[in-house]
Parts: sequence; C-alpha cells; structure tokens
Amino acid sequence: MPEHPPTILILGGGFAGAYCAQELERRLGPAAASVVLVDRQNYFIFHPLLIEAGTGSLEPRHAVVPIRSFIRRGRFIMGEAVGVDWAASQAEVLPAESSETIRVPFDHLVIALGSVTRLPEVPGLREHGLEMKSLADAVGLRDRAIRMLEAAESAPQPERKCSLLHFVVVGANFTGAEVAGELEAFLRAAIRRYRTIRPHDLRVTLVERSGRILGALDENLSRYAERKMRARGIDVRLNDSVTRIEPRRVTLASGEALHAETVVWAAGIAPPPMLAHLGLPLDARGYLVCDRDLRVQGRPNVWGIGDAAVNTDAAGVAYPATAQHAIREGVHAARNIAAVSRGQPTTPCDIVSQGSLAALGCRTGVANVFGIKLSGFAAWWLWRTVYLLKMPGVARKLRVAIDWTLELLFRRDYVQLGVHQPPRSGTSNPPPSLSSQSAAPPLRQTT
Ligand SMILES: Cc1cc2nc3c(=O)[nH]c(=O)nc-3n(C[C@H](O)[C@H](O)[C@H](O)COP(=O)(O)OP(=O)(O)OC[C@H]3O[C@@H](n4cnc5c(N)ncnc54)[C@H](O)[C@@H]3O)c2cc1C
Repeated sequence: MPEHPPTILILGGGFAGAYCAQELERRLGPAAASVVLVDRQNYFIFHPLLIEAGTGSLEPRHAVVPIRSFIRRGRFIMGEAVGVDWAASQAEVLPAESSETIRVPFDHLVIALGSVTRLPEVPGLREHGLEMKSLADAVGLRDRAIRMLEAAESAPQPERKCSLLHFVVVGANFTGAEVAGELEAFLRAAIRRYRTIRPHDLRVTLVERSGRILGALDENLSRYAERKMRARGIDVRLNDSVTRIEPRRVTLASGEALHAETVVWAAGIAPPPMLAHLGLPLDARGYLVCDRDLRVQGRPNVWGIGDAAVNTDAAGVAYPATAQHAIREGVHAARNIAAVSRGQPTTPCDIVSQGSLAALGCRTGVANVFGIKLSGFAAWWLWRTVYLLKMPGVARKLRVAIDWTLELLFRRDYVQLGVHQPPRSGTSNPPPSLSSQSAAPPLRQTT
C-alpha cells in the first residue's frame, strides 16, 4: 500500500458522480484511496421523478437523494467547483457560504458535472421562459400553474383568461413530453376546484422542431404517445419552433402567435459552462471527449462521465445523456480507477441500453424495455415500478411508494409552496424564469 493513499476527486455528485464514489468505496479500502466528492448541493435530483414532484404526485423532497448517503468514509465538500490548476493537480472549489476558494489536491480527477438546459438566442427566453432541471424549477412551475388558475378565476376579460390558462412547452423529447402530459393532467384535475374555469378554457401546447415527439423512441410508440396527447386536448405542434417569447405572447417559426403567459423550455441540453475553461479536449458542442475506458483523451488521470462527457460504444456511437448511462459510466469509471491503482489494465465501457420509458400523465405511458414495447396503463405502471426500484435506499423507496398510494386514494393539494420571485414591473406574476438563476462565480483554469 502507498504511504499516502491516492486522492480521487469527483466533481459533481449527480447520478454519475455519486455512483462512482459509492463504487470506489466498495472497491478500494481507506488505505488504498481517499475519495473526495464536490457538489454545489448536498443532494442530487432523481430527475425521472422531478416532474411528478412538481405536479404533486410526489412530495418534492422525496425526489432528491442525499449525497452523503453515497459516501461513507470519504469526504464531501459542498461548494462550487470553479477551476483546476493542472500543474499542481489541484481543483479550486468555492465552499458554500465562503468567499474564498480552497484547493483540493487530486491524483485522479473525475468530471461528472452533468449538463445545463440549452438556451438558444430566442428573444425573451431568458426573461420569460421556465426550465425543468432543478427542484425549484419543478415546484416553481406548480406554483406558477396554481397562480395562473387563481388569476384566471377572477380575470374580467375572456382574452386575458385564455392567455393565463395557456401553457406552452417547447421541446418534445422525454422531459418536454412528460412535462406537457403531467402538467395537463394536473391542471385538468385542479380546475374542478375553480368555479369559473371550464375544461375548454385550458390549453397546453407542445411545440417540437422535428416531425415527431419522443424522437428517441420507436416511431410507433412515439405516434401512440402523440395520439394519446392529442386525444386529451394537448395541442401538439410538429415541425415548428418558438422564435420569440413575450410576457403574454409566444411567436412560432410558422408565424403564428399564441396568447400564453407560461412557457416551459425543455428543448435540449448543453455542457456545463465550466468545461470550456479547463483546457481539456472538447467536441464541437463543448462536451468532454473521452476514450473507451472513460479517460479524457490524452489525460491518463482525468475521467469524464455522465452528461458532461461524450462516451462511445465500440462502434463509436455516443451513449445518450440518460440517468441509466450516467450510473453505469460512474460505476465503470470507479472500476477502472481501482484497476489503475492496482497496476492492472482498464477495460472499455460497454453499455447495453435497458430501454426507455416515458410517463405521459393520466396513468398512461410508453415503454421500450429490453426490446419489449408497451403503451398505456401497463407502460405507466412499469415506469413507476422501474423508478421505484431504482430509487436508492429502502426508506426513500417506501416514502415514494406511500406518496403514490396516497395519490391513488386522495386528490392532490392545489396549494402553492411559495417558490416564486417577487413581482417585476411590467409583468403580472412572474415565474422563477431562466434569468433568475444565480450567476455562477467566475471560472478559471490555471496551468
Ligand atoms: C426533467 C428531467 C427528466 C429526466 N428523466 C429521465 C428519465 O426518465 N430517465 C433517464 O434515464 N434520464 C432522465 N433524465 C436525464 C438524467 O437525469 C441525466 O442524464 C442524468 O442526471 C445525468 O447524470 P449526471 O451525473 O451526468 O448529471 P447530474 O445528475 O445532473 O449531476 C451533475 C451534478 O453536478 C453538480 N454540479 C454541476 N456543476 C457544478 C459545479 N461547478 N460545482 C459543483 N457541482 C456542480 C450538480 O449540482 C449536480 O448534482 C432526465 C433529466 C431531466 C432534467
């Protein structure tokens, strides 16, 4: 054993980073390695359940997982990773509630910083758009939706009522389709409590640039999902996009103007901004380029996993940015780091996809699991079962199961949880929009 065990520093404690830390602790005893994990939050979001947490099927805190439950012997630092000094092999971290960075030395650096929502230069997007990435986004959307219902209930002009009750979701891959489906189901059930709102007053529009929704699924499943959504009254706009967002109006590329006051932007992801400042090899979109064993190209002690990295199969096809791939890359990186520390060769990361699942609200869904295609209630049931089983920890599984059981028996509460900004001048009741995100501290790379 080395006198000072090597330090394995993991930046980002989401699916990839947390499972990597857990596997490292399983494989390497305290004398063999010291594991340090940095994340700006002390939990990671179980993203597949985020939308349910936002629309009230699930208690919001049950959709997050404490990072400390993944790391028992190692050290967790809650803080913002802001740079890497490659010459000194140290990462710079701004700890929570501190104005001074600390330097964390490493022998191996694992970069697992996830992704951010892709925000193209659409006028008004940053001011008026909402995203669906954090717990605050999910709860904020629910608060916003309830606020719109309350405002519509007493809106004197019918045109205003229509724009308050029109919700536009942009992007119809998994996140967008699930947001549109769950939001519509939530609103449809909620309006029963409102005296002046009729079902036809409510409108959810799903805008998708390509020719079909859920493009990652087989065409027949995606067409099934589209038919189900249309049958419920969701206005699915294919081959169209949003070109401008104003407080009460959304302009489409086709030229049509939709009178709507709530826009959820779920059209793609982008690399975390920090990657651009690290001097590491990036692809054209800005993601880390890695070898098959998950090492960043040309850097024998730097590993890239999860959404932040481009990891490919044997044919050179990039693995999709999903939780199942992030978890398996995290575990595989840990195995390879353990192998390197024992002087053994690394192995390529081969992942066979287990399939895809999407919940569409109203107890319906679509699934393609191990080649078996399901739709409707069976797919929705499978979706819940799979994610319940994947939720880490027995106590958390139980909490989620209880929430879901109660939801089957009782109506949801249509109360706000208080996640919204103070009113801005010029707009009536502003949402926690994309522009409200706190600016990250400056990033730097030192060599
Ligand atoms: C709404 C939604 C629904 C989804 N549904 C599904 C689904 O049903 N199935 C599926 O397989 N996938 C789903 N995904 C995708 C899945 O969540 C991601 O692919 C997965 O989270 C990627 O894991 P990761 O560890 O790379 O990133 P993340 O899980 O996002 O973790 C990244 C971590 O890095 C931290 N971080 C980032 N920058 C810094 C910094 N500078 N300093 C410190 N910490 C930092 C973040 O706080 C975060 O904890 C969904 C995503 C979303 C947004």
